[in-house]
Amino acid sequence: MAWVLRLVETGIDRPSRVIDVLDIRPHGDLGDIADLGLTLSEAKQILARLQQALVAIQADDHAVQRPFCSSCRHTCHVKDWRLHQVTTLFGTVAIRLPRFRCASCGHGETGVSWLSHCRSTPELDQLRAHMSALMPYRVAAGLLAHLLPVDAGTSAETLRGHTLKVGEQLRAAAAVKPGPAVSAITVTVDSTFIRGRHDGERHLEVRVGNVETAGGGRQVFGAVAKAETEIAVMIRRSLETVGRTADTELTAFTDGAPSLRSILAEAGCKKPPIADWFHIAMRLQHAKQAASGLSTDTPDRMQAKAVIVPEVERLHWRIWNGKARNARRTLDRVRKVMHVFQGERSCRTTAVPSSRKLWRALREVDTYLRGQSSRLVNYAKRYRAGLRVGTSITEGTANFLVNRRMNKAQQMRWSRRGADLLLQVRCALYNGAFGHGFGTLFEPTSNTAQKSLLVA
Ligand SMILES: [Zn+2]
Repeated sequence: MAWVLRLVETGIDRPSRVIDVLDIRPHGDLGDIADLGLTLSEAKQILARLQQALVAIQADDHAVQRPFCSSCRHTCHVKDWRLHQVTTLFGTVAIRLPRFRCASCGHGETGVSWLSHCRSTPELDQLRAHMSALMPYRVAAGLLAHLLPVDAGTSAETLRGHTLKVGEQLRAAAAVKPGPAVSAITVTVDSTFIRGRHDGERHLEVRVGNVETAGGGRQVFGAVAKAETEIAVMIRRSLETVGRTADTELTAFTDGAPSLRSILAEAGCKKPPIADWFHIAMRLQHAKQAASGLSTDTPDRMQAKAVIVPEVERLHWRIWNGKARNARRTLDRVRKVMHVFQGERSCRTTAVPSSRKLWRALREVDTYLRGQSSRLVNYAKRYRAGLRVGTSITEGTANFLVNRRMNKAQQMRWSRRGADLLLQVRCALYNGAFGHGFGTLFEPTSNTAQKSLLVA
């Protein structure tokens, strides 16, 4: 018994074209489950043959067309033929394409508008970039080679080259169809670090952030510091994409690094940024955890802890309500009772005792608040008015954009350019510029992680 996979042309008056694509021989009967249906290599073979057959049909149909001359409107004739090798998702195909010449004025025309150096289809380019954005190049190359009948460009190094090229294209792209005008946009910028590949560049600073509208419009952006991507340009483009106009009110949040503030100014955020509540809350959280871990093994310590825990809570309340510019008062009050923890041992001998942790955490809150004092606001009031007080989303964004693919845990070392361009691909992926709804990975506004830090 033999079967043939055949393409038959339909819906035409003339005799149909018929193309035999592949002979198929089903394996055995159903006695063995392993014989059921197609194997991966057979499926690859079918796709590759089908692709070749379809491309041949397209090329035939193309070749019979006779375009009009663009300068004198006479019909062109075939001048010569050129062979193009193009890699597609389903294998590399060779296409013989005609070049035309006007019989009247001699003007040359091509039937296709491809770039002369075009070697692959956009869909393949996207898939390669998409996979590389999600996993190490080596793993992505293996996956693609495993599943697709692609016979070219599957080494990790070629894949990297393709991906960085897509990154360059994305960086040069304009705003994706500017959205309808919005009255207010929140901008957040943060920075994180990855390991550098070269000596003298042990750590590369990565700036990431997002813009957000009340309606849930959201775009992420990122750039490696001192790479070719201008982060301010990326911010402006993101703002444009979510619908910024001259009348849009911009509210910016940062953790306060001066470089980030000047970036925001450069991107058009005229008002000084607000210190992100998320960063304050994280530091307070450390202090609270240390306070609650204080030992109560003597009556003195029990009493001291009963003073300290509410004192840290009060500090939280004062900052939240815009009444604290530093943690001096808390430090003073805690210091008065701290002596009872002298000689405190941690239950695990190697760990730092809670009293020392608490002191360290409070000092950190104090230093942080002093550095941010001009950017602290009444967060409670903003919150009650339904305004943002900061965003934990940026942390999530940093995680998604940078850490999951590029962080230390993966033991990867990055070149400045390589990291910067891959980041452009990851941003595009997240923003849905590749046609996939990656934006749904995060909720647009006030997510649960943030709410849990709002103990007002
Ligand atoms: Zn002509």
